[in-house]
Amino acid sequence: MHVVEQVGQERISRKLLKLIQNNRVGNGYILAGPWGSGKMSLALNFSAALNCQNPHADFSPCNTCESCLKIKRNAHPNIYFIFPSPAGKNPKDDDPFAGLTEQEFEKIQEAIENMSNDPYKGIEVESSTTILISMIRKLRKDLMLAVGNEGWQVVIVYRGEMLNESSSNALLKILEEPPKKTVFLILTDKYHVLLPTIRSRCQKIPVNPPSTEDIAAWLMEKYNLNQKTAAYYAHYSNGDIRLVKEFLATDLQTENEAFKEFWRYLMSGNMTALTQWIDDTSNRFKKDKEAVRREIRHVLFWLRDAYLLREGGTPSRLINVGFEKELNSFVHYYPTLDYLKAIRETERVIELTRKNVYFPALIGHFCLFLTEELAHARLHT
Ligand SMILES: [Zn+2]
Repeated sequence: MHVVEQVGQERISRKLLKLIQNNRVGNGYILAGPWGSGKMSLALNFSAALNCQNPHADFSPCNTCESCLKIKRNAHPNIYFIFPSPAGKNPKDDDPFAGLTEQEFEKIQEAIENMSNDPYKGIEVESSTTILISMIRKLRKDLMLAVGNEGWQVVIVYRGEMLNESSSNALLKILEEPPKKTVFLILTDKYHVLLPTIRSRCQKIPVNPPSTEDIAAWLMEKYNLNQKTAAYYAHYSNGDIRLVKEFLATDLQTENEAFKEFWRYLMSGNMTALTQWIDDTSNRFKKDKEAVRREIRHVLFWLRDAYLLREGGTPSRLINVGFEKELNSFVHYYPTLDYLKAIRETERVIELTRKNVYFPALIGHFCLFLTEELAHARLHT
């Protein structure tokens, strides 16, 4: 029984419950896995199990006691969230929110609320790229004050890869002399970016994306989708639940059309149309960053599928179901395309859209990159 929504990942859940059962809960765990795989859900459900007043025989949380209800409402005093946030104008040593504008502070509250409503959203504060040392210092103080509290104190570090050297070292100090009954759960999609000293202090728990079957089953049950549609979304999302939810909330058909138009411009090298597209997209990015990110992901999916076909993969593994013909002719027209290079660059661009970069320049460079790659790889007849 889960307290917050969790798709699949039952094996990891059981492993975590076993730790409680065997009285072997350690000080630090790193949940390492890609976006949308459910790291926050796992962390919250584990926190619930640790603090449940009336757990089931397998040590899973009851979902009805006061502690479980508090976790569900994100109002549990023993759970601490550490996450990237903006640095204020007049920062204080141990108060990450001192010196923030009202608007910045509201954004933080909104991000926390989003996560409370849906753990798969994470705690995403726009344009925040660092976990501030002041947040760690405040945590240290809070944990000291919590000594003697009932139950387990759980520190959830969201996007651990965004700890910089000083905040990592501050965290390390707490990890080296952890208060009793305190456990750190560091979530990251970039395990190797964490300082080796942090890594060696924690146990790694690899989190793979939930299986297509698990996702489809969840979609059928929760959203009443028929099997075919559920399988399609499950496939398209590549195991990213955040993405599935975005897809569910948008009109995929229209997005696919817009995306095909973009490819046509690229393949024909129509610079006028591309320039216009870059302008339009930059304007849309200001209003809806997620939608534009999804479009760029379509590029990624397309490249991945074409690469799969070129390498002789089975069409049943395609993400773009129903586009086999178009994909095959794409592969035929660009026989020497360096797919891995193009995929890497697309992933880099998606990652950069989450940072504070000037979007028109970013997308402009990206289009130029793709146009050139395609031009070099084109079949000469
Ligand atoms: Zn409970």
